[in-house]
Amino acid sequence: MPVETNNKRPIKTPKPRLFGGSLLILLTVLLLLNFIIPTFGPRPPQVAYSDFIAQVEANKVDRAIVGGDRIEYVLKSQPTGDNTLPPQAFVTTPVALDLDLPKILRDHNVQFGAPAPDTNGWIGTLLSWVVPPVIFFGIWGWLMNRGGGAGGAALTVGKSKARIYSEGSTGIKFTDVAGVDEAKAELQEIVDFLKNAGKYTRLGAKIPKGVLLVGPPGTGKTLLAKAIAGEASVPFFSISGSEFIELFVGVGAARVRDLFEQAKKQSPCIVFIDELDALGKSRGGAGGFVGGNDEREQTLNQLLTEMDGFDGNTGVIIVAATNRPEVLDPALRRPGRFDRQVVVDRPDKIGREAILNVHARTVKLSDEVQISVIAARTPGFAGADLANLVNEAALLAARQNRDAVMMADFNEALERVVAGLEKRSRVLNEIEKKTVAYHEVGHAIIGALMPGAGKVEKISIVPRGVGALGYTLQMPEEDRFLMVEDEIRGRIATLLGGRSAEEIIFGKVSTGASDDIQKATDLAERAVTLYGMSDELGPVAFEKPQQQFIEGYGNPRRSVSPKVAEQIDRQVKETIDGAHHIALTILDTNRDLLEETAQTLLQKEVLEGPTLREQLNRAQSPAELDEWLRSGKFPSGMQLKQLAIV
Ligand code: ADP
Ligand code: MG
Ligand code: ZN
Repeated sequence: MPVETNNKRPIKTPKPRLFGGSLLILLTVLLLLNFIIPTFGPRPPQVAYSDFIAQVEANKVDRAIVGGDRIEYVLKSQPTGDNTLPPQAFVTTPVALDLDLPKILRDHNVQFGAPAPDTNGWIGTLLSWVVPPVIFFGIWGWLMNRGGGAGGAALTVGKSKARIYSEGSTGIKFTDVAGVDEAKAELQEIVDFLKNAGKYTRLGAKIPKGVLLVGPPGTGKTLLAKAIAGEASVPFFSISGSEFIELFVGVGAARVRDLFEQAKKQSPCIVFIDELDALGKSRGGAGGFVGGNDEREQTLNQLLTEMDGFDGNTGVIIVAATNRPEVLDPALRRPGRFDRQVVVDRPDKIGREAILNVHARTVKLSDEVQISVIAARTPGFAGADLANLVNEAALLAARQNRDAVMMADFNEALERVVAGLEKRSRVLNEIEKKTVAYHEVGHAIIGALMPGAGKVEKISIVPRGVGALGYTLQMPEEDRFLMVEDEIRGRIATLLGGRSAEEIIFGKVSTGASDDIQKATDLAERAVTLYGMSDELGPVAFEKPQQQFIEGYGNPRRSVSPKVAEQIDRQVKETIDGAHHIALTILDTNRDLLEETAQTLLQKEVLEGPTLREQLNRAQSPAELDEWLRSGKFPSGMQLKQLAIV
């Protein structure tokens, strides 16, 4: 995919006045120097004409070059000590002295000739005159343009650093962005504003000034912005929020000013600010270090001021992108600033199919590849993940020396993306292998009985990725946007299924379940503190608001009383205990199946397809499963068994 082709040209910066002034002074100095030091290098001494003739007549001259007004000559090396002149000298000839010089020279065996057409002289002078300043200014100019480094940056601090693309030169069109049709429609409107501003202003409508693209990472926000540049035949300034703030304090605001100055000159045009959150974080939010915040605040203020300072109909539209809209300063979203928000979300199945098709255009696919099947198997994937998937598949196919990318390559690529690279070199001993096999089958059997989590597609005991010694691949059948209570319970039980199998079969547990336990605890805690699923604590939020689009950030707990904290802990533990209990019960019920499947897995290393499905279809639900899924409780009167089943 061509991104940022080399058509971009740097912004024309007005030369600082300083530059012109110094240039003059420098030239003058150079000129003066040139007059003071007439020529460079040592010169032979000047001799009177009569002395020269005398030397010739004394047979001391070896050869001479006779020019119109000047004779240069070389003395013979003198064996005696009367060498008062260096071996080389010259004479300035008065033209009036018209002796028969050639004859005299000939008589005394002096070799002589005319000088070569006198070019060397003045070219040399010219060069010695011109070259040093050229070099000097070359270095200076280079420093000025470099942008980085102390010298350069010192001279360019106020420059906006935006790249400017002339019309269409990003090489990206709306057709290169798929699966985000609503966003495209909104942005199409922006393109239209720019192209036919008259249509809107004629009726007195105000063209929006700012559009904010929000969405999870990798969904194509930056790509969309580039596509706007490709579609709208207007100049496009592109800069990242973090580029405003770097190296020098007090520079950010100047850069913002410069950027808008440039943009207004070139209107109609689009200014794109990527990663706006780097710049637009809420002021006064969350304390922080004073220095850094100050700088950002100034820059942000400047941005706000600039956005207010121009009339909407000047034709400058600002597009910004962020994946953390919740941290943005509210002032940025005020009407008249970024008042339009376009959500660029993860694509649904149809969207994924479209994105896969976009990226498959440049890849040679075998006829048996069904893009729609791949799309179905990749819920939750963003555009960037899908692009990566296609590329991984192509790489795999190339490694196999295939002529075209096959479905098998996509399957392997998908597993790579989900579980990491296969690591056949990691050799497990027999006991470890057995442990992993039972552990994975434990996950699979419980996963097969739980609602909402989709089919168990594959069990493998081939090590993969950083830590996985084996893995169970469970694929949702459809896109899911919500998880219901019973599905969360089922998920926790499935996560604990591996460890439960180890308990049942070996009577002791290994360290292999730590990741499962982490995830299960996380989920159980969120169910209580975030989703309000605890009967005892009710729908009370115990965590601060979630990051909207980025996963993996821990949410801070709200301040709660010690009593409530204790209650939360107890609820979490109860949830986990219940899930653990049901997992053990299920595996106990299906012990024969567990044994048989694990043994097959040990032989084959990988179980998938119909064989696996047949096995797992035989799994039996224990009597208490339904009640537990529904309420998280076990039928009344039933005690939690002491679960050391050996
Ligand atoms: P973001 O800025 O939202 O984090 P990018 O626009 O940088 O994501 O996307 C990264 C790459 O992923 C793109 O260059 C493109 O190859 C691919 N991609 C992402 N979203 C899409 C999409 N909707 N359609 C096609 N390709 C996409
Ligand atoms: Mg981006
Ligand atoms: Zn596990």
